[in-house]
Amino acid sequence: MSDDTAMVIGGRPVLPEPGRTIPVLNPFDGHLLADIPDATAQQVTDAVTAAGEAFERWSRVPGVERARLLTRLADLIEANAERLARMETSDNGKLLGETRVQARFAARNYRFFAGQADKIYGSTIPLDSESTFDYTTREPVGVAALITAWNSPMQLLANKLAPALAAGCTVVIKPSEQAPLTTLATAALVEEAGFPPGVVNVVTGGPEAGAALTGDARLGRISFTGSVRTGQAIAATAARTLVPLTLELGGKSPNIVFEDAPLDRALAGALAGIFAAGGQTCIAGSRLLVHRSHYERMVTELAARAESIVLGDPLDPATQMGPLANKEHLERVLAMVHDARSAGASLRAGGDRPADPALRAGCFLRPTVFADVGPGSALAQEEVFGPVLAVMPFASEDEAVEIANGTAYGLASGVWTRDLARAHRVARRLVAGTVWVNTYRAGAAQAPFGGVRRSGYGRERGLEAIDEYVRTKNVMIDLSEDVRDPFVIKA
Ligand code: NAD
Repeated sequence: MSDDTAMVIGGRPVLPEPGRTIPVLNPFDGHLLADIPDATAQQVTDAVTAAGEAFERWSRVPGVERARLLTRLADLIEANAERLARMETSDNGKLLGETRVQARFAARNYRFFAGQADKIYGSTIPLDSESTFDYTTREPVGVAALITAWNSPMQLLANKLAPALAAGCTVVIKPSEQAPLTTLATAALVEEAGFPPGVVNVVTGGPEAGAALTGDARLGRISFTGSVRTGQAIAATAARTLVPLTLELGGKSPNIVFEDAPLDRALAGALAGIFAAGGQTCIAGSRLLVHRSHYERMVTELAARAESIVLGDPLDPATQMGPLANKEHLERVLAMVHDARSAGASLRAGGDRPADPALRAGCFLRPTVFADVGPGSALAQEEVFGPVLAVMPFASEDEAVEIANGTAYGLASGVWTRDLARAHRVARRLVAGTVWVNTYRAGAAQAPFGGVRRSGYGRERGLEAIDEYVRTKNVMIDLSEDVRDPFVIKA
């Protein structure tokens, strides 16, 4: 094993214990990309210890210096963007066009939080008593555990690592065992940027390593992106340790097309919502709600467009949709498609694997469109995390909002309308962390992102993200010379 795939603990490369490696495969052709260490519980503990020791020094580094290092990291990510993008595409099968954008987006995120590192202010608070001076400071929470999913590792890492480092935290990162390579490459860039050893530690492995990390009571914060089920397991552990959590979980996001929508744009938005990245995004617009007046036309056009999507090698610029990220995931998605058919949803496009022999080695599913999906059915309620769209009609604004809000999730949503009042009205009524109007799947380093209900809690990106990594301390100073009555609280 080379140092490229070694873990990083306390600034040193750490190799696996004998027999503890995990193969990382390219989902397009199944070939072996690397063997990564499957961290032992002891190695995870060592990483938290190293981060704890580094925190003593790093938390006293002035914000302006943290900003300088974060800016340097952003520069290095930009300089290595093409290499990182190709690595991520080989690792998780996302289109190269998409991973290129995500590499630039990651760099933008490090730059945005570099700008915040020297602006983490407290406040002075006027109290009722003139003789008492009160102020707050906002201090880093300590060691943060950052755990990411396989679908967008570079971007998900930047969402967490940038504010954590800006705030003065040290970190232990655990990327998904399915797509860990760009995280290990980013750790090398962190070192090249000049961050002190121990500030950024990376352990690799699966659920066992993740559970060892999230069970460590020395953590100041766990920031997790992944499935609801794992989020719930982590929350159960945190109920014992009382470590605070940020949870970025799944979604079943509605994309709503009203009768006055710009239809061509809405159609493109619907396709982007579900077929970009093969639907393997938490924000996938996996439920398309269409006003009855456009319903049949929209379903027919969507099905035709879905059938014409070019499947292929995600590194080929002509490809529009790559494979799903791994075999087990493909099997899961196929089972959900099968169940939806058995439940009576009308299959209008896709629904099976492509016949093209050139695609047999990859984890491909044809872009799939189901119409007349019952709002209460499993397909309308459960996250598929694949290129499977559930289309359903509505007759009124009230009904659209009711269907849209009628799942256990609340991550993203789309509204297509030319009516300004309706846009604001519906945005207010939707239960979701993000509402897009006349666009879908757009993001910015400045714009806060996160979910409600089973989509999780806490926010990433935007000014709010820093709050996940700092805690407020109140300092109250009595300026008088009075000797107080010891048996009465001072108010
Ligand atoms: P997952 O929950 O299986 O794994 C996520 C991470 O958790 C991986 O690093 C995994 O190794 C680790 N893990 C697994 N079991 C663990 C345990 N018991 N304790 C601690 N860590 C553990 O999710 P996934 O399949 O990698 O990702 C897909 C899910 O992620 C989807 O539900 C998707 O919606 C969600 N997601 C959410 C966002 C968001 O920002 N809201 C973004 C991307 C993906």
